[in-house]
Amino acid sequence: MTETIDFAANLASVKADIADAARQAGRAPESITLVAVGKGHPAERSRAVLAAGQRVFGENRVQEAEEKWPALKADFPDARVHLIGPLQTNKVRHAVALFDVIETVDRPRLAQALAREFDSSGRQLPCYIQVNTGAEPQKAGVLPEEADAFIAQCRDELGLPVAGLMCIPPVDEEPSLHFALLREMAKRQGLDGLSMGMSADYPIAVSFGATLVRVGTAIFGTRPAR
Ligand SMILES: *Cc1c(COP(=O)(O)O)cnc(C)c1O
Repeated sequence: MTETIDFAANLASVKADIADAARQAGRAPESITLVAVGKGHPAERSRAVLAAGQRVFGENRVQEAEEKWPALKADFPDARVHLIGPLQTNKVRHAVALFDVIETVDRPRLAQALAREFDSSGRQLPCYIQVNTGAEPQKAGVLPEEADAFIAQCRDELGLPVAGLMCIPPVDEEPSLHFALLREMAKRQGLDGLSMGMSADYPIAVSFGATLVRVGTAIFGTRPAR
């Protein structure tokens, strides 16, 4: 059985939620960028979402993105793809060639590898520092108490173009506490970008100042089992 998904309707409804949450928070809806997360779905679904007008996407695996995006970008040259999953240093070259934004800078070795690759490729990508706001052992991200020093290292020592901070709150906790913490850290560091909020909580994230929301399921439907 093939599942029919109305991608245009899903997109419109997510965008309307973002606009409502923005207005309620006294923010301009245009100040929030929707990142449509197509991970785990076949490329044809991303193509359908592109056809519905969406241009900013997120993928969490370098290899999956390499399989999907060169062909999609050939047809939609203004599409932009954010890396939102962990990046191994041995995949930095591929990632820098393929992605437009790296949202998951989370450790010195990766930051150093990115700085070197930006240097040698001449391609500079906006970077977000991923903060493990819940200090979860299994989760990527710099620990909150180490974030200020790591941000300083990325910006001042390595010269990375740090655009902001990113977090994935623990699933079983009130996300607003984590969004507030991330906003506070960004403010302290003079950073404007805040990547936070997923299908379950993006309107809350917008009310806490998110500038990027990463929404998968609400647009693409449930991810197929892998
Ligand atoms: C999968 C994923 C998302 C999207 O999650 P949904 O709940 O499907 O909206 C957002 N951010 C990251 C980092 C992800 O891995």
